[in-house]
Amino acid sequence: MTKRIFRAIWLVTVSVFLAAVVLFMGVLYDYFTGVQYTQLKMQAALAAQGVSHEGIRYFEDLDSQNDRITWIGTDGTVLYDSKSDSADMENHLQREEVREALANGVGESARYSKTLLERSLYCAQRLDDGTVIRISVAQNSLLTLLLGMMQPICVIAALALVLSLILASRLSRKIVQPLNELNLDAPLSNDGYDELSPLLRRIHAQQNQIKRQSEALMQKQKEFETVTMGMREGIVLLDSNRMILSMNPAAQWLLRAEEPCVGTPMLSVNRSLELQELLAEADSGQHAEKIMELAGGMYQLDASPILTDGAVSGMVLLLLDVTEKEKAEQQRREFTANVSHELKTPLHTISGCAELMKDGLVKQADIGKFSSQIYTQAQRMIRLVEDILKLSRLDEGAGDMKREAVDLYALAKETVESLLPVAEASQVQVTLDGESAEVYGISQLLQGMIYNLCDNGIKYNRPQGSVMVSVKKEADAVCLTVADTGIGIPTEHQERIFERFYRVDKSHSKEIGGTGLGLSIVKHTARLHGASIAVQSEPGKGTVITVRFPVNHETKLEIGSIPD
Ligand code: ADP
Repeated sequence: MTKRIFRAIWLVTVSVFLAAVVLFMGVLYDYFTGVQYTQLKMQAALAAQGVSHEGIRYFEDLDSQNDRITWIGTDGTVLYDSKSDSADMENHLQREEVREALANGVGESARYSKTLLERSLYCAQRLDDGTVIRISVAQNSLLTLLLGMMQPICVIAALALVLSLILASRLSRKIVQPLNELNLDAPLSNDGYDELSPLLRRIHAQQNQIKRQSEALMQKQKEFETVTMGMREGIVLLDSNRMILSMNPAAQWLLRAEEPCVGTPMLSVNRSLELQELLAEADSGQHAEKIMELAGGMYQLDASPILTDGAVSGMVLLLLDVTEKEKAEQQRREFTANVSHELKTPLHTISGCAELMKDGLVKQADIGKFSSQIYTQAQRMIRLVEDILKLSRLDEGAGDMKREAVDLYALAKETVESLLPVAEASQVQVTLDGESAEVYGISQLLQGMIYNLCDNGIKYNRPQGSVMVSVKKEADAVCLTVADTGIGIPTEHQERIFERFYRVDKSHSKEIGGTGLGLSIVKHTARLHGASIAVQSEPGKGTVITVRFPVNHETKLEIGSIPD
């Protein structure tokens, strides 16, 4: 800007100077021409008087070194000329000054030489006899004058140039200085130029607007951060170049990103090919999702493009924890496979026996044995199906079953009594100990729980062994304990016996009619009642399973599906 102002000032100064020189000289030239005309007129008048009195003799003594004097007859012929022989001169009747003098008494004119370097001024005066006296003088033209004065003009121009350079430089700096010193942080406090006031007011208004907008943006950003900060789901915002605009703590932890990662490319945070493929898909403007293993869990990654005017201007990446869902899905698949497998064995046995009997390949004496086999396997299938149904009911939360205050001791007594024949057959003694204790729950399920625990105590026992059932009240719980003197459970299996179809000794369990679902049902029933289960067992010595029901549990019954 300084340069521009400087150049403008300098150009104006130089132009004005040159124009002034030319105009000034023009005016001077005009002025002196006027003076010369006046002198010529006077001389012409004097000469006219002289010629009137003396005639041609007037010219004899005349000394006209600088001027040229011509006497012209009434017909235009030159009678006398001080510079040339009058006989050689052409007729002057058509000369402008002569025509004017003949018409008006006096006449004047000026004519340039062919080279334009010289100009002649003419003044003519008519005499009484009709002849005309003309005096002329030669003068330099303005161009010649200018050319002649070129040297001093150049010197003055050079001086003026230098002076204008210095002045222009100072002036331009002075003009720009207040602009450079403008305090744009407080536009209204500036008082340099009045002309800048509208601009400064506009800047002030815009600054206020920007301030308000940035405050609103900050507020929004804060709200967004507060919301995403507490989210368990990861959320990442990317721009169109996949640079991170925002990443909440959950996403940082899941992607193992180092702080601060905002402003860095997503690729530098996570180089996984799967993630890059997902982002590339979203880049093409489509919603994309993928299940990936992150931080030891399974996560669903959802990438949604943000479209502005039809073009992808960024994307949102959501990381959702689907570990439980995936686990449940896996367990469902395993359960289905296990159920099919468990049902296949008895069905094959039943089908095989029935086929042999149908084809008459079984001896009459063996019919009983085969029928009994069919019956046993059918019973096994019934138990299996019953247990599966019980489990699926528990999975759904048993919402349709009646909840009431149940005396756990009375329930245990009833159950123990129903199991006495089985116990006797296995030569196992079952005892019940304790006191009446109420829990709030589903009687049918609680009975099934006591039954399964006692049945296991009898099944996995040895002859002359015993099963001790006790129901006791504690300060804040009701405790059901089933202790046996049976084969015990090795430590490494103790955690897994509650899994569906898990058996420590598969063939032994099947032999004694186990389905592998009993303890699973126990676990789900306990959960549904908010109870905890503890197992203490020593192989060869026996097992103690304790179920602790919290008192006043009325409202805490879990409803809904229970993960395994
Ligand atoms: P099952 O129908 O096979 O008895 P459960 O789910 O009731 O299935 O038990 C799972 C496994 O836990 C059993 O197969 C058995 O190996 C072990 N088990 C359960 N209760 C006892 C116990 N009281 N003593 C020893 N082992 C036991």
